[in-house]
Parts: sequence; C-alpha cells; structure tokens
Amino acid sequence: MNNGYGFDRLSRDALIASTILSCVGVILWRSVLGMVFCAVATLLMALILVRTLSPNIERRQDELIGYESFAGAVSGFFIGIYNKLFKKNAAYTGGGTKQAKDPSYKYFKCPKCGREYRAPKGKGKIRVTCRECGEQFEKKI
Ligand SMILES: [Zn+2]
Repeated sequence: MNNGYGFDRLSRDALIASTILSCVGVILWRSVLGMVFCAVATLLMALILVRTLSPNIERRQDELIGYESFAGAVSGFFIGIYNKLFKKNAAYTGGGTKQAKDPSYKYFKCPKCGREYRAPKGKGKIRVTCRECGEQFEKKI
C-alpha cells in the first residue's frame, strides 16, 4: 500500500486559497463571480487531494520547487512596489524643504539603495553603513 506524496507547502497554501475563495464565493453566491470563485475553490480542493494521494513523488517535488520560485518572485514583486512607494514618499517629504526646515542637519542618501539619512552638520568626514543594504560610504558634512 502506497501512502502517496502527502501534504506539502503548496497543498497548504492552495488549501488556504481555496478556503478564502469559497468564503468569498458564498458571500457573492448570487453573482456570476461568486459561482466562479466556488468553482475554482472546488477545483483547488480536488487538485490538493490528487497531489496529496499521488504516488509520483518526484513530479510533486518539481511542482513544489516551481511553486516556491513563483511565490518568491511574487513576494519580491510586492516588496519592490512597497519600496518604490516608500521611497517616493520619502522623496516627497524630503528634497530641499527638509534641509531648509532643519539647517543643523545634513541630509543625504545611500548611493546604492537611496535610503535617506541625516547627520548633525560640522562633523567633517563620516563613515556611514547603510541600514537598508549594508553599503558603506563616506560623507563630508
Ligand atoms: Zn543602502
């Protein structure tokens, strides 16, 4: 008796996704969208069952590796968007106005990732290690 491949991270995430989809599907049941959500949720459940009971372990591991690189790319994409928004906001509040408001500080950016720093003026040359990307650079202030 073969016990099959079993339950992995892909199955777990698919189960979470199908649970969310079926909840949304039930809420929107009277609309076409709700039916689509429920159909997709049911399909996902069936796929999870097939994967979990599958004797073809190599194939399932390939799927897991593929999924993890995909999930990594997706999270990287969202982290990129978050960083872009964050940096845009920093640039918006910064610029010349910040320096003018606070003349005793020197504002500067990391040359590698653009994270903003400030240091009290008149300290001469300082060595900065970026907290964001670890870049080391010297700054005259
Ligand atoms: Zn940096």
